[in-house]
Amino acid sequence: MPDFLPYAYFQGQIVPFAEAKISIATHALHYGTAAFGGLRGIPDPQNPDQILLFRLDRHCQRLSQSAHLLCFDLPADRIEQVIVALIQKNRPSSSFYIRPLVYTSDLGISPRLHNIEKDFFVYGLELGDYLSPEGVSCRISSWARQEDRSLPLRGKISGAYITSSLAKTEAVQAGYDEAILMNSQGKVSEASGMNIFIVRNGILITPGFDQDILEGITRDSILTLARDLGIPTQERPIDKSELFIADEVFLTGTAAKITPVRQIEQYQMPANRPITEQLRQKLAAITENRDPDYPHWVKVVRFD
Ligand code: PMP
Repeated sequence: MPDFLPYAYFQGQIVPFAEAKISIATHALHYGTAAFGGLRGIPDPQNPDQILLFRLDRHCQRLSQSAHLLCFDLPADRIEQVIVALIQKNRPSSSFYIRPLVYTSDLGISPRLHNIEKDFFVYGLELGDYLSPEGVSCRISSWARQEDRSLPLRGKISGAYITSSLAKTEAVQAGYDEAILMNSQGKVSEASGMNIFIVRNGILITPGFDQDILEGITRDSILTLARDLGIPTQERPIDKSELFIADEVFLTGTAAKITPVRQIEQYQMPANRPITEQLRQKLAAITENRDPDYPHWVKVVRFD
């Protein structure tokens, strides 16, 4: 079991984590009608009385948009207030992850989003490396990423994670670390909980928003950093075979940060990864507030 932070926000109040419990009849549990976020924070290495959160505003905005897709009006600044209050109460002392979730909290049956009670909660857990920073092996999944015409993919909708879960388990049970999913057109989409990038001839390439990806906040950060560093970028469809001949491949996500891919199916990737490494160091410096160029990406939460 993860090491949960001692307090959670549940049913409008901050309560001990163990007291935050829902009924077995909860609608969202049956129909996947929930949406969640995930953001990382660390104690400030330069000041033990404060916490650094990476792109809190953008995470809250995405969750608010996901809630909107589920017909739930939850302003981003309300989510932000709750997260800050919860962190101040918990005073985390190591690297952690915050998980806010909006859901249909009603106890009635029938799949729907109208005329139904909804709520949101937030809790946290300690989180070190989610995937090995040394690199992972990936299987091309037999499961396709869903299409936006069957599920609102711009939201981080809980029900969509059945596909991620099937793909991840299929990969791990076949001896790989992670899964790469193609979309219904057979183009590269993303991994089970990460966006994907490749490097070819010095160009950083990632599937665009038309490839059924999640609007990853790390993805957005990496594209911005690459442009600022003068690395040419392309957002375009990627063929499966391009993965196998790429110079570098890496996955990005809040939990995974930048994780290099060292093998895909039977193909070994080159061990030399200069662009992955450059971006990884830059992102680490920003999240630790050591980079003067991106202070607006780091929210400082003080303990008063
Ligand atoms: N795709 C999926 C399916 C995810 O679950 C995640 C993790 N939130 C990502 C991509 C990466 O998104 P982010 O960088 O915002 O964490």
